[in-house]
Amino acid sequence: MSRTFPLEKIRNIGIIAHIDAGKTTATEMILHHAGRTYKIGSVDEGTAVMDWMEQERERGITITSAATTCHWLEHCINIIDTPGHVDFTAEVERSLRVLDGGVVIFDGVAGVEAQSEAVWRQADKYGVARICFINKMDRIGADFHHTVTMINERLRIKALPIQLPIGSENLFRGIIDLVENKAIAFPVDPNSASIEEGHETLLAKHRQALIENLAELDEQIMLPYLNEQDVSAAQVKAAIRRLTLSNRIVPVLCGSALRDRGIQPLLDAIVDYLPSPLDIPPISAINSKSGEKILRLASDDEPFSALAFKTVSDPFMGRLVYLRVYSGGVKAGAQVLNSSIDKKERLGKLYVMHADHREEVAHTETGSIVASLGLKMTSTGDTLCELTRPLLFETIRFAEPVLSMAVEPKSKADQDKLDDTLAKLTVEDPTFKIYHDKETGQTLISGMGELHLEVLMQRISREYGIKVNAGRPQVAYKETPTLPVESQGRFIRQSGGKGQYGHVWLRIEPGERGSGFEFRDQIRSGDIPKEFIPSVEAGVKAVLQSGGLAGYPIIDVKVALYDGSFHEVDSSDVAFRMAAFMAMRDGMDKAKPIILEPVMEVEIMTPTQFMGDILGDLNSRRAHIEGIESRAESSSIRCLVPLAETFGFAGDLRSLSQGRATYTMQFHHYEELPPNLTEQIAARIGRSR
Ligand code: GDP
Repeated sequence: MSRTFPLEKIRNIGIIAHIDAGKTTATEMILHHAGRTYKIGSVDEGTAVMDWMEQERERGITITSAATTCHWLEHCINIIDTPGHVDFTAEVERSLRVLDGGVVIFDGVAGVEAQSEAVWRQADKYGVARICFINKMDRIGADFHHTVTMINERLRIKALPIQLPIGSENLFRGIIDLVENKAIAFPVDPNSASIEEGHETLLAKHRQALIENLAELDEQIMLPYLNEQDVSAAQVKAAIRRLTLSNRIVPVLCGSALRDRGIQPLLDAIVDYLPSPLDIPPISAINSKSGEKILRLASDDEPFSALAFKTVSDPFMGRLVYLRVYSGGVKAGAQVLNSSIDKKERLGKLYVMHADHREEVAHTETGSIVASLGLKMTSTGDTLCELTRPLLFETIRFAEPVLSMAVEPKSKADQDKLDDTLAKLTVEDPTFKIYHDKETGQTLISGMGELHLEVLMQRISREYGIKVNAGRPQVAYKETPTLPVESQGRFIRQSGGKGQYGHVWLRIEPGERGSGFEFRDQIRSGDIPKEFIPSVEAGVKAVLQSGGLAGYPIIDVKVALYDGSFHEVDSSDVAFRMAAFMAMRDGMDKAKPIILEPVMEVEIMTPTQFMGDILGDLNSRRAHIEGIESRAESSSIRCLVPLAETFGFAGDLRSLSQGRATYTMQFHHYEELPPNLTEQIAARIGRSR
């Protein structure tokens, strides 16, 4: 079957930005120029095409990663939407996983902000090639060179401007293209259609600097440069492409999305410098039956493989699963294997998604992004492949939720509907979890931050029409041992007939912060038959979940099963699970557990005049100030604040700064709770038990 677009003409990209940097506006403009959206939506009026969920419209932020296809210079560009808010880390991670390149947008006034830094690191992890777009050059205070310096310093990457702005703020009237050696004047200002005096020297100087920088890194530029030969635009382009694809530089562009300035050159740069599926390394996987390693090339001749990176349950259409096809092709309606759960599934209809409509397609090919309707069991992170060619991609690991909240339906009649809806939402979002507290009978939901839970609550009421009462958000404390201990568990019942016999010795040790749980089987052969080992692990895990002394889940612990015994007749899975449960519970009591609390990284941007008051407020929240950067007008504060102290922060910050300060917050690490607070919690738990 012939391809619609040759593979080298496909770009799977994400637009990555700190909230408010202008991602939605830039996407709008890209879609406008790349020919799919004819009416330009505006974020300020809440009509943006990409933000299709009702609440996103209200908040003006993009939460779900809808995928949109558009066309530019005979290339097919798939834009996978990434959220700007770090409360939605799972969304960021899973979109980074499936995109090949990224456009990172910065606000020319604010420069590099904390969230951009966080997302940048995530993109590093996935080796995503990037170009940078410094937006809002029309705003007062916009500073192109300062932002380039910040990218160099804070993101630790060689940022090479390939454009320069002509003028800034309301005099921002053109762009100098250092690659093509020309100026682009914006049509709104007919008088500046040529390079003004002085710009030619500026152009010559900066182009020289660009070529010097490229020559340092790229041999094919170094030779002509050393021989003082001319370097053509085509040579410069090819060098920038090579260095961008290998993550050694990021080209930097500029413009104003709101005023539609610099968007066409940005589209050119996406085509010129970001990778096609052929430019990324073959994807590695394992054979899900034999465990052997497999490399899949991006080619239609390879067997079909795809990753489900997004599941949306649309109350009207049903379940849409977004797929990135890594190799081979598949027809709509074909039967495939979901190798993550080892089940056969039928692909229903396939759609290419545009921002404002979907286009049904009969088949899909390597490198494409499609949405499938009809997959029943497939969820986010699952691998789909040919029935006879089983393979499994590495699954995505998500952070554990840090905040939880009790919920109940306003009307008891809605209980089943609520349970159903919550279950659906957890399939869509792996950082959203539900627990049923057996003691209180409450349903608890947990997520990555206040905004995350708030958005989910609104979806429940708006999309699914269930009215819900919610409790106060509670911090997800954890417990961890501080001493290594050895602990025995014996579950032996022998009273006529078949008895029970399980006996284990566990070594419990504190693990490093962030290491989670590790289980090792160190049993000498024959002491406990292999078939019972998974039951021992299950017994240990049951204690981790039900919690330690204070009832919080236990993390960062290493458990080794190193001794024990069994009985030919009486031993069973249940007996070993019970024995391990007892050994773990007693062991944790002796291992001097402590309570850990989540600590958030907070960055505040404020007009400098309010700094003093804000620092005072932070002080009362047990904040640890990491750094303060002061510029004439506005300053930023970076600090670490325990999550428990952040409630009400948004409101206080607003009143302390006359509504002018903004902040971002994201989970940073777990830390030991100070002793006085540990005592308070212990006393509270003592009372309630
Ligand atoms: P997102 O949160 O990154 O998606 O940012 P939006 O696209 O929603 O933009 C945030 C705000 O910045 C909106 O009020 C936009 O109108 C405004 N904005 C976006 N681009 C520009 C720009 O180039 N110049 C100016 N002055 N404002 C812009």
